[in-house]
Amino acid sequence: MGLIKTKGVVIATANSQDNDKVLTILTPDLGKIPVFYKGAKKTKSSALSSSEFLSFSEFVLYKSPNDNYSINSAEVIEVFYNLRTDLDRLSYATEISKMIYDVTEENIPAPDILSLFLNTLFVISETDKNLDLIYSIFQIRLLAILGFLPQVSSCVNCGEPMTENMKEFYFSIKEDGVKCENCQKLDKGVIRLSKTAFSALIYALSCDSKRLFAFEIPDEAINELSVLLKIYCSQKLDKEYKVIKYS
Ligand SMILES: [Zn+2]
Repeated sequence: MGLIKTKGVVIATANSQDNDKVLTILTPDLGKIPVFYKGAKKTKSSALSSSEFLSFSEFVLYKSPNDNYSINSAEVIEVFYNLRTDLDRLSYATEISKMIYDVTEENIPAPDILSLFLNTLFVISETDKNLDLIYSIFQIRLLAILGFLPQVSSCVNCGEPMTENMKEFYFSIKEDGVKCENCQKLDKGVIRLSKTAFSALIYALSCDSKRLFAFEIPDEAINELSVLLKIYCSQKLDKEYKVIKYS
């Protein structure tokens, strides 16, 4: 009860009565929480406010005796301005926030997910990196945080190690990892990956979070990752996600 100070990103908004809004905020310690924002629509229109979708702010929240949150005060930290002026960037950020919404819950701390989310929004907003690549990297890392770590060092079936001189790799969605040349022949569900795409997958699974988006790969490899992640993600999260593309 009382006042709670927390940082958070608005991942959904809904209009309430008059000038009020109900925000869904992802916080590090409280997880995903619904927050009532009285007078949200009256805040100065000259500046993007804390009640905007995808704004990152520091909030002082009031928690009522029956566990409802409302905003006491809020200070914007980052609005990711370019997301608001470019439909494609917004579209990717929106799909990412839907995924985040689906995998988080109230009272389950989510510092790693929030950190990945902010990192991803920053790269989408402030760089000209390929959006499909950013989206794939985000998905790989999100699945890893959620505990879906595919086996990538050796064949899931026979244990044969993957080596540097292999040119192609075969990812089995059904069995959560790579298969060797021989074993993949018996699995109709494998997805073929070039060495470049496979290396990118391993990098995104294991690198330091500060270096997560610090690589480029050719378009062909980006496409391979997109195909893999679309299927892998929908299987693991039990839902289809699709980015609407404008250009
Ligand atoms: Zn094998």
